[in-house]
Parts: sequence; structure tokens; C-alpha cells
Amino acid sequence: MSRLTSPGQIKGIMKKHNVRFSKSLGQNFLINDNIIEEIISRSNITKDVSVLEIGPGVGVLTQALAEHADKVLAVEIDNKLIPVLEETLSEYKNVSVIHNDILKVDINSEIEKRFDNPVKVVANLPYYITTPIIMKLLEEKINVEEIVVMVQKEVAERMVSKSGVKAYGSLSVAVQYYCDASIILDVSRDNFLPPPNVDSAVIRLKVRENPKVKVIDDDYFFKVVKGAFALRRKTLINSLSKSAIAIDKEIVIEVLTKLGFDLRIRGEKLNIEEFAQLANELYKAQN
Ligand code: SAM
Repeated sequence: MSRLTSPGQIKGIMKKHNVRFSKSLGQNFLINDNIIEEIISRSNITKDVSVLEIGPGVGVLTQALAEHADKVLAVEIDNKLIPVLEETLSEYKNVSVIHNDILKVDINSEIEKRFDNPVKVVANLPYYITTPIIMKLLEEKINVEEIVVMVQKEVAERMVSKSGVKAYGSLSVAVQYYCDASIILDVSRDNFLPPPNVDSAVIRLKVRENPKVKVIDDDYFFKVVKGAFALRRKTLINSLSKSAIAIDKEIVIEVLTKLGFDLRIRGEKLNIEEFAQLANELYKAQN
């Protein structure tokens, strides 16, 4: 099967297999070959790396990945697309497709089983679960060197935001804790079939060897970060006392004073280093 590059070919193959686009599964397929080539070249896919693709759809990006990478593993949740992928990927002997929900896959064991070279994740993610997928990849410390994914533009901006701007939040801190994040390509909605209601961007997450900051306890650090942003309009003293760490306001006041922070400060003003300092001092005070 030749490369799928036009909306007509995608519609044709879907019709042949009697499949409809599922909005609830975030099915917006790429129809611009230039964008696909740009993703491949900017993610430096060569025959020395293997790729995990999340959500191959009808295989548009998968075909290009297979041409440039050593091996490709694609995980697709929609059982109706499996026969389509069998057809569109039949000539690509270096591709395996798993029918499963990526959130349920033991990614590290799949990678270990199949690949013996560096691995990258490359995907046009389903937008309804972008954050859970990214968080799974990061928190499970999956063994990959780089994650290059298309996401909603606004989510990409949240991932790269620094303290003090509106887009900055717990996702920014989590992503930057584990990765060096940059937006590498803006992609307008008319490059997809059907077009989504939002524009997109491709983000590159270079996974750090060690997290950006040293914390005593990862889990506690993220509870502090999530708590600080859960009640965005409240001061840290109020939001942390109602957060998962359920800390006394008096202790927060003591720690903020010790660290030289204004007692009216809100979470959105703290950068990742300051969050680490704060979480470590709160942890010591509580344990
Ligand atoms: N890669 C294709 C492309 O670029 O044209 C399709 C991308 S489309 C935005 C997202 C794909 O993810 C769809 O094929 C959808 O069925 C699949 N998907 C949605 N939820 C998933 C999940 N939990 N696990 C695996 N795949 C999923």
C-alpha cells in the first residue's frame, strides 16, 4: 500500500473497511505530508532508533516512521482500525501494532521486549487524554530519550510556561521536572481530517537523566505543586492547608518566613527551584 497522503485516500480506506471517525477517541488524522516529514526530521528519526507511536489511526504517520526508523511499535485503542492498519502497513515489516489502551500498557516491558536501541515516542496524540498520557510516560520513567508529540497548542504552551504567566501550572512543573521542553512546530487545524476546533503544536520533551531539581520525596513534591495550583486565587498558606498534604497553616507560615517568601504569595509565582525548596522544608517540618 502506497503512502497515504490525501484526504481522498484516507476516506477511501475507511469506507472500504466500513469505519467512521470517532470523535470521542480524538480521531483527527494528519493529511499534510509536509508536516509529517517535518515531524520526522525534527525528531531526528534514523535507522539507529526505534519508535513507540501512540494512536496510529489509519497509519499515516506510522508509514513515514517505518521508513525512517529501525522498528516501530504502534498502540491503537480502536479495534475497527486494526484491519485498516493491517492493510496500510502490510509492506512495512518493521512495524508491530498492539490493540490496547496506552494507559493500560506496561510500556517499559514492551520496549524491553522489542527494542535494543534508543527509543523515542512520536505521536499525534488524542487530545482528550493528552495530559494522562504525558504523565504516564513521565511518572513511569519509561526508558525513552525523547518524546515528540502533537498536542493542542494551548496544552503545548502550558508545558513550556515559566512562573508568573497564566499558562503556568502543575503540568508545566511536572513536565519541566522530568524534561527539557520546547515547542518545535505550530500546526493549524486545517492539516487534519476532520479538522479539530483548535490549533495544534508539536512539542519536544528531551528526557533528563536526573530531574531538574533535587527533592526529598517525589510524591510529596507533586502533592505540594498540585495543591498550590488547585486553588489558584488563594495564597499558598490557604491552598496548601487544604491540599493532599493537609498541613497546618502555622507550619506553612514558619516555612515561608524561613525561606524569605511574602506570606501572601500564590503558587503561580514560584518557579520549579522554589517549589523544590518549599516542598523539602515542608516535608522536613511534617516528618
Ligand atoms: N496518528 C494518526 C495521525 O496522525 O493521523 C492518528 C492520530 S489521532 C489524533 C489519535 C489516535 O489515537 C486515534 O487513532 C485514536 O483512535 C487513538 N487513541 C485514542 N485513545 C487512545 C488510547 N487510550 N490508547 C491508544 N490509542 C488511542
